[in-house]
Amino acid sequence: MKELKYCPNCGKETLSYVNNRKWSCSECHLSIYNNVAAAVGLVTIIEKDGVNNILLIKRGREPKKDYLAVPGGFVDPGESAEEAAGRECYEEIGLVPDRITYLTSATNNYKYNEIDYITCDIFFKATFKGSDSKNFLLKLKAEDSDEILGFELYPLTKKEDINSIPLAFKSAEVALSSLFK
Ligand SMILES: [Zn+2]
Repeated sequence: MKELKYCPNCGKETLSYVNNRKWSCSECHLSIYNNVAAAVGLVTIIEKDGVNNILLIKRGREPKKDYLAVPGGFVDPGESAEEAAGRECYEEIGLVPDRITYLTSATNNYKYNEIDYITCDIFFKATFKGSDSKNFLLKLKAEDSDEILGFELYPLTKKEDINSIPLAFKSAEVALSSLFK
Protein backbone atom coordinates (compact mmCIF):
# COMPACT_ATOMS: atom_id res chain seq x y z
CA MET A 1 0.00 0.00 0.00
CA LYS A 2 2.85 2.35 0.77
CA GLU A 3 4.11 1.71 -2.78
CA LEU A 4 1.28 3.77 -4.26
CA LYS A 5 2.91 5.98 -6.91
CA TYR A 6 0.25 7.23 -9.32
CA CYS A 7 -1.88 10.15 -8.20
CA PRO A 8 -5.61 9.29 -8.52
CA ASN A 9 -6.31 12.98 -9.20
CA CYS A 10 -3.77 14.10 -11.82
CA GLY A 11 -2.57 10.64 -12.89
CA LYS A 12 1.12 11.47 -12.70
CA GLU A 13 3.68 9.23 -10.99
CA THR A 14 4.25 11.82 -8.30
CA LEU A 15 2.83 10.35 -5.07
CA SER A 16 5.10 9.94 -2.10
CA TYR A 17 4.38 8.64 1.39
CA VAL A 18 5.00 11.40 3.93
CA ASN A 19 5.50 11.33 7.71
CA ASN A 20 4.16 7.76 7.93
CA ARG A 21 0.61 9.09 7.61
CA LYS A 22 -0.30 10.36 4.15
CA TRP A 23 0.33 10.09 0.43
CA SER A 24 1.05 13.45 -1.10
CA CYS A 25 1.20 14.48 -4.76
CA SER A 26 4.00 16.92 -5.60
CA GLU A 27 2.20 17.89 -8.82
CA CYS A 28 -1.42 18.70 -7.81
CA HIS A 29 -0.93 18.67 -4.00
CA LEU A 30 -3.59 16.04 -3.36
CA SER A 31 -3.25 14.45 0.07
CA ILE A 32 -4.62 11.03 0.95
CA TYR A 33 -4.47 10.27 4.65
CA ASN A 34 -3.66 6.77 5.82
CA ASN A 35 -6.20 6.93 8.64
CA VAL A 36 -6.46 3.97 10.98
CA ALA A 37 -9.49 1.72 10.64
CA ALA A 38 -11.71 1.23 13.69
CA ALA A 39 -12.38 -2.33 14.76
CA VAL A 40 -14.11 -3.87 17.76
CA GLY A 41 -13.54 -6.93 19.92
CA LEU A 42 -15.70 -8.56 22.60
CA VAL A 43 -14.10 -9.93 25.73
CA THR A 44 -16.42 -12.43 27.38
CA ILE A 45 -15.60 -14.17 30.63
CA ILE A 46 -17.58 -17.33 31.28
CA GLU A 47 -17.35 -19.08 34.62
CA LYS A 48 -17.29 -22.85 34.44
CA ASP A 49 -16.78 -25.10 37.46
CA GLY A 50 -15.51 -22.13 39.45
CA VAL A 51 -12.91 -21.14 36.85
CA ASN A 52 -13.03 -18.00 34.70
CA ASN A 53 -12.71 -18.73 30.99
CA ILE A 54 -12.38 -16.46 27.98
CA LEU A 55 -14.63 -17.07 24.98
CA LEU A 56 -12.67 -17.27 21.71
CA ILE A 57 -13.35 -18.06 18.10
CA LYS A 58 -11.07 -20.08 15.85
CA ARG A 59 -10.35 -18.17 12.66
CA GLY A 60 -11.12 -19.94 9.39
CA ARG A 61 -9.52 -17.41 7.06
CA GLU A 62 -6.27 -15.55 6.62
CA PRO A 63 -4.77 -13.59 8.17
CA LYS A 64 -3.94 -15.89 11.08
CA LYS A 65 -6.11 -18.83 10.04
CA ASP A 66 -6.47 -21.45 12.84
CA TYR A 67 -5.44 -18.93 15.49
CA LEU A 68 -7.82 -17.72 18.18
CA ALA A 69 -9.44 -14.32 18.50
CA VAL A 70 -12.16 -12.61 20.46
CA PRO A 71 -15.34 -12.14 18.40
CA GLY A 72 -15.23 -8.86 16.51
CA GLY A 73 -14.28 -7.11 13.30
CA PHE A 74 -14.13 -3.83 11.43
CA VAL A 75 -16.54 -0.98 12.09
CA ASP A 76 -18.57 -0.30 8.94
CA PRO A 77 -18.98 3.24 7.58
CA GLY A 78 -21.76 4.99 9.51
CA GLU A 79 -21.71 2.57 12.45
CA SER A 80 -20.91 3.28 16.08
CA ALA A 81 -18.45 0.99 17.85
CA GLU A 82 -21.33 -0.38 19.93
CA GLU A 83 -23.39 -1.15 16.81
CA ALA A 84 -20.41 -2.85 15.17
CA ALA A 85 -19.86 -4.92 18.32
CA GLY A 86 -23.46 -6.18 18.25
CA ARG A 87 -23.43 -6.89 14.51
CA GLU A 88 -20.04 -8.62 14.41
CA CYS A 89 -20.92 -10.65 17.47
CA TYR A 90 -24.15 -11.86 15.87
CA GLU A 91 -22.34 -12.70 12.62
CA GLU A 92 -19.59 -14.61 14.38
CA ILE A 93 -21.33 -16.44 17.22
CA GLY A 94 -25.04 -16.08 16.43
CA LEU A 95 -25.89 -14.15 19.60
CA VAL A 96 -26.29 -10.50 20.50
CA PRO A 97 -24.66 -9.56 23.81
CA ASP A 98 -26.93 -8.89 26.76
CA ARG A 99 -24.65 -6.04 27.86
CA ILE A 100 -21.37 -4.48 26.76
CA THR A 101 -19.12 -2.06 28.63
CA TYR A 102 -15.98 -0.36 27.37
CA LEU A 103 -12.78 -2.15 28.37
CA THR A 104 -9.77 -0.68 26.56
CA SER A 105 -8.34 0.00 23.10
CA ALA A 106 -5.15 -1.08 21.36
CA THR A 107 -3.46 -0.68 18.01
CA ASN A 108 -3.17 -3.63 15.66
CA ASN A 109 -1.73 -4.47 12.26
CA TYR A 110 -4.18 -6.49 10.17
CA LYS A 111 -2.37 -7.80 7.11
CA TYR A 112 -4.87 -8.72 4.40
CA ASN A 113 -3.86 -9.58 0.82
CA GLU A 114 -0.39 -8.10 1.44
CA ILE A 115 -1.83 -4.79 2.59
CA ASP A 116 -1.18 -3.61 6.14
CA TYR A 117 -4.32 -2.19 7.70
CA ILE A 118 -3.39 -0.35 10.86
CA THR A 119 -6.39 -0.49 13.14
CA CYS A 120 -7.52 0.97 16.43
CA ASP A 121 -9.22 -1.97 18.12
CA ILE A 122 -11.90 -1.01 20.63
CA PHE A 123 -12.61 -3.70 23.19
CA PHE A 124 -15.78 -4.20 25.18
CA LYS A 125 -16.50 -6.60 28.01
CA ALA A 126 -19.58 -8.56 27.06
CA THR A 127 -22.09 -10.72 28.90
CA PHE A 128 -24.63 -13.11 27.42
CA LYS A 129 -27.86 -14.44 28.82
CA GLY A 130 -27.56 -18.16 29.47
CA SER A 131 -23.75 -18.20 29.31
CA ASP A 132 -23.70 -20.12 32.61
CA SER A 133 -25.51 -23.07 31.07
CA LYS A 134 -23.46 -26.21 30.50
CA ASN A 135 -23.99 -26.36 26.75
CA PHE A 136 -23.51 -22.65 26.00
CA LEU A 137 -20.82 -23.33 23.37
CA LEU A 138 -23.21 -25.63 21.51
CA LYS A 139 -25.65 -22.74 21.11
CA LEU A 140 -23.12 -20.69 19.18
CA LYS A 141 -23.26 -20.62 15.41
CA ALA A 142 -21.39 -18.48 12.91
CA GLU A 143 -23.25 -16.99 9.96
CA ASP A 144 -20.36 -18.07 7.73
CA SER A 145 -18.90 -21.40 8.84
CA ASP A 146 -15.85 -20.94 6.58
CA GLU A 147 -14.92 -17.80 8.45
CA ILE A 148 -15.22 -19.32 11.94
CA LEU A 149 -14.00 -22.88 12.50
CA GLY A 150 -15.25 -23.19 16.07
CA PHE A 151 -15.61 -21.77 19.56
CA GLU A 152 -13.33 -22.35 22.51
CA LEU A 153 -13.10 -21.53 26.20
CA TYR A 154 -9.63 -20.94 27.60
CA PRO A 155 -8.97 -20.69 31.36
CA LEU A 156 -8.01 -17.16 32.31
CA THR A 157 -7.44 -16.89 36.03
CA LYS A 158 -4.12 -15.05 35.98
CA LYS A 159 -2.23 -12.80 33.58
CA GLU A 160 0.29 -15.52 32.69
CA ASP A 161 -2.52 -17.68 31.26
CA ILE A 162 -2.65 -15.31 28.27
CA ASN A 163 0.74 -16.57 27.05
CA SER A 164 -0.60 -20.09 26.56
CA ILE A 165 -3.44 -18.97 24.27
CA PRO A 166 -2.58 -19.05 20.53
CA LEU A 167 -3.99 -15.58 19.91
CA ALA A 168 -4.15 -14.22 16.38
CA PHE A 169 -3.58 -10.56 17.28
CA LYS A 170 -1.42 -8.57 19.67
CA SER A 171 -4.24 -6.20 20.49
CA ALA A 172 -6.22 -9.04 22.10
CA GLU A 173 -3.25 -9.71 24.39
CA VAL A 174 -3.40 -6.07 25.48
CA ALA A 175 -7.15 -6.33 26.08
CA LEU A 176 -6.90 -9.53 28.12
CA SER A 177 -3.96 -8.12 30.11
CA SER A 178 -6.07 -5.10 31.02
CA LEU A 179 -8.41 -7.42 32.92
CA PHE A 180 -5.65 -7.93 35.49
CA LYS A 181 -4.81 -4.28 36.17
ZN1 LIG B 1 -1.66 14.69 -8.43
